[in-house]
Amino acid sequence: MRGEGNFQNEKMETASQEKIRELQSRRLKEIARHVYSKNPIYRKLFDEHGVSPEDIKSVEDVTKLPLTNKDLLRESYPLGLSCVDRNRIVEMHMSSGSTGTPVVMPYTQGDLDQWAECMARCYRMAGAVPGDAAQITPLFGLFNGGFGMYHGARAAGLFVIPAGPGNTARQIRLARDFKTRVLTGVVSYGIRLMEVMEEMNESLPDLDIGIFGAEVFSDSMKKKISSGLGIEAFDIYGMTESGGVGTLGMDCEAHDGLHVWEDHYIVEVIDPATGEAVDDGKTGELVVTALTREALPVIRFRTADLTKVVSREQCDCGRTHVKIAPITGRIDDMLIIKGVNFFPKQVEQALMQIPGVGANYQIIIEETDGMKDVRINVEAEAGVTGYVVEKALKEALGFSPKGDVYPIGGLPRQEGKAKRVFYKKAGEE
Ligand SMILES: [Zn+2]
Repeated sequence: MRGEGNFQNEKMETASQEKIRELQSRRLKEIARHVYSKNPIYRKLFDEHGVSPEDIKSVEDVTKLPLTNKDLLRESYPLGLSCVDRNRIVEMHMSSGSTGTPVVMPYTQGDLDQWAECMARCYRMAGAVPGDAAQITPLFGLFNGGFGMYHGARAAGLFVIPAGPGNTARQIRLARDFKTRVLTGVVSYGIRLMEVMEEMNESLPDLDIGIFGAEVFSDSMKKKISSGLGIEAFDIYGMTESGGVGTLGMDCEAHDGLHVWEDHYIVEVIDPATGEAVDDGKTGELVVTALTREALPVIRFRTADLTKVVSREQCDCGRTHVKIAPITGRIDDMLIIKGVNFFPKQVEQALMQIPGVGANYQIIIEETDGMKDVRINVEAEAGVTGYVVEKALKEALGFSPKGDVYPIGGLPRQEGKAKRVFYKKAGEE
């Protein structure tokens, strides 16, 4: 198998669970002391919760610490939650989020090294080897995607092609001329590339690995992109708050869950309503504690991402780090239409299994007098009828949404992260 024996840090990636627990215990004690002694907001939070760093003796004690969320990071804008002196900060990234109040992540040199290490492990896990050309298509800017993939590619010894987004025809020429083996980006950009390659009648024989992140994507979308681009696609995970893309891990060649880098992070899955832990195998909200970051280590951060623990056994790839399911969706993404709960990912999964249906679609939530209805527009090759689409969606969702079938290329395209869900009030265009 391609990623077998391909490690950035073999000793750590294959360490026994016992060893990892030991390390987590030591690091959790250190990080609790660090944030408590260096940041007044954290200190107040711990005090109000009735916990002090001395109460943390092992990894199990993580549940004694207070849960935190995005609001804490927003309210402390710009650097209120930083746990180091300002002159130790060497880089920052920021996400605007849906409400527009930014979340800032400052980095020390040590944090950049930690990020690079996590991301490099992902490249190697996907099968990349030193010298491979890696074409990085996310934006190099405040969004963490471009730089994270860059820092990691450098650490993994790859040949970096810092293409950034856009100008897809040039992107394809770059990939051809410089023999790109690894393509990184957001899922929707992979789709765009696939379409333009088809228009240009171009193929990229060297392209072999696709690493996609920042957007939830279904297994059937993964298959579509993999066959369209002739690659093996991987689902990378990480967010501004955890320290950026790749920090939380990725799926390996087994493709049955994302390995989380447990020497750097403790992950818990909780019931979002009660905050209590749920059993392995049960879906809940992912909570993340950063063990090795200096400038802004998150403590029991509620990600609002839904997942479950898939396995704590050693994987076929040799890695021992816990596997979680690819993210189902965000808690706030859940749609309730006519009493039925579902996530956009389920719609995508159903659509991508219909032969002839394209990779672009829209979920439009229409509200009339407080009643919500959903319309699902798809692109498809000639011959795919609305009836076929409706039937597949009824099977997947339990009710039949309305919608239209457009020719391939008929729906609007966006740069960057794809918007799939749109809200409309009655009478709006
Ligand atoms: Zn594995």
